Amino acid sequence: MKVALVNPCWTYEHSIYFGCRQPHLPLELGYSKAMLDADGHDVLMLDGLLQGLDNAALAERVASFAPDMTVVTTAPTYLFWRCAPPELRVPGEFLNHLAGGGGRTVAVGPHGSATPAPTLRKLGVDVVVRGECEEVVAELARQSDWSKVAHTARLQGEGLACNGGVHASPFVDHPALTWPSDWVAAHGHHHHRFDTFQKGAGAEVEASRGCPYNCSFCAKIDFRDAYRRRKHDAIVAEIDGLIAQGVGYIYFIDEIFLPQKALLEALVDRDVQFGVQTRIDLWKPELLELLGA
Ligand code: SF4
Repeated sequence: MKVALVNPCWTYEHSIYFGCRQPHLPLELGYSKAMLDADGHDVLMLDGLLQGLDNAALAERVASFAPDMTVVTTAPTYLFWRCAPPELRVPGEFLNHLAGGGGRTVAVGPHGSATPAPTLRKLGVDVVVRGECEEVVAELARQSDWSKVAHTARLQGEGLACNGGVHASPFVDHPALTWPSDWVAAHGHHHHRFDTFQKGAGAEVEASRGCPYNCSFCAKIDFRDAYRRRKHDAIVAEIDGLIAQGVGYIYFIDEIFLPQKALLEALVDRDVQFGVQTRIDLWKPELLELLGA
């Protein structure tokens, strides 16, 4: 099967979005591609900002590829599922340009996970994936009858047909992701890093997913809830690949970066800097000393 995975060209005119507007690696599409590749599918992955393609140009590329299925994300990367642009204007614009030229259509992201019916109506896609998406996208590519695929929702007449709740990926065995070198070169942004000399390209990596805490205001319960830690060797292999492509700064998108001694030692041994979101009360003094703090 031919599958197109698209991170649309995000623009923010008239948006109330308060998050970062720079390009980021679309991790959810990267994991989906790795699984689709492993199943032998022919995959085209596109990113509007990193490739300098507007939504009309993205739609043209997808239509030329003539996929059986097109997947579009409604947040710029997994990092922003917890604080996504609230409106669906940008993925909607891409789908309008595509105008049926991408085969069956799928939306992944926080909008369809939390509010599937309005997302389906606004985007006009065939299905939305509910929850973390990579395994569900791979399953959609395996099945012709999408009504049987768990963790999806679709419109049936005027009503909503949901097949199961939100999906949580096993995550721990995810392979090391690889990215096109021109995407990495275009990623000059060092996320959450200000007022300092920025050496090399930036990149986003995921060492863990979810959070063991339960703050009452947090949206993580709809996706990325339970805490899971990815295998060390895959994380380090991914980081080494990025460094070889010119990355000088890694931002770990983890909801909460719990310090892992082996990973910190690997980072200290490499010519790379990194940023995290964490709770300082979870760090032992010796781990801070390891980082030279
Ligand atoms: S620590 Fe952060 S990620 Fe965890 S529940 Fe609280 S707000 Fe959510």
